[in-house]
Amino acid sequence: MSKDKTYIIGNWKMNKNIHDSSMLVHKLASTIKVRRDVEVVLAPVTLALQAISLQINRRQFKLAAQNFYWRDEGAFTGEVSAYQLKGLVEYAIVGHSERRHIFGEIDKDIRSKVQAALRNDIKPILCVGETASERANNETKDVLADQILGGLANVASNEIKNVVIAYEPVWAIGTGNFASPEDAVAAARIIRSQIRHLYGEEISHKVPVLYGGSVSTDNASAYLNCIELDGLLIGGASLDSHQFSEIVKKAHNAGKKVDSK
Ligand code: PEP
Repeated sequence: MSKDKTYIIGNWKMNKNIHDSSMLVHKLASTIKVRRDVEVVLAPVTLALQAISLQINRRQFKLAAQNFYWRDEGAFTGEVSAYQLKGLVEYAIVGHSERRHIFGEIDKDIRSKVQAALRNDIKPILCVGETASERANNETKDVLADQILGGLANVASNEIKNVVIAYEPVWAIGTGNFASPEDAVAAARIIRSQIRHLYGEEISHKVPVLYGGSVSTDNASAYLNCIELDGLLIGGASLDSHQFSEIVKKAHNAGKKVDSK
């Protein structure tokens, strides 16, 4: 497990304009301490990335894009590419369930985006997760395996160290109906066994696997105390500066406990 660093990633989705995004960063900057053991990543709306990049201390916060198109340049009206985001963001969310289910992205698109991110020195945060009906039909294992295989096909073993995986069950996103830590750990084990199958034992322990889905200050520690989970991807609660800062603090405290185990 790569518990040397815990990832706390805030996905702001299509919330806040540039001014409000900047105000939130201002509040977070005053409450979140720079800690080497916690990687705090903010994913504001694309429009706010430039302004926030000038505002942040890059030791305190890293930036992530929520989405991008996989071609580098060309006649793709309205799109932004990983090539254009290069230097502005360190990470990019790929395969979020809202992209898969609302915008119809399929594994082929997701695979192309993972590749585009890596070729532009951006670390993809690959999101995978089953729907409620897939879970009810006992298909979780197959769905996760397919999404990992589909998203990582073409990723070489020297590139996989730059990939972060987030287990985000679709039924838990924005619903308040979070996965139990046991279920999140079981899913992380399935994901790691797929990575082991593709890249071998050693690498499988190095790829960070996060949990996301209705995380709040109330349930965060339960995931952060699991050695199999390397952090959290947070939607709703990341828009609340108090909750998000509190979760970052919990990540630091949980890391200390894991170290001394
Ligand atoms: C997300 O958008 O990735 C997410 C996990 O959202 P929420 O925390 O609101 O469920």
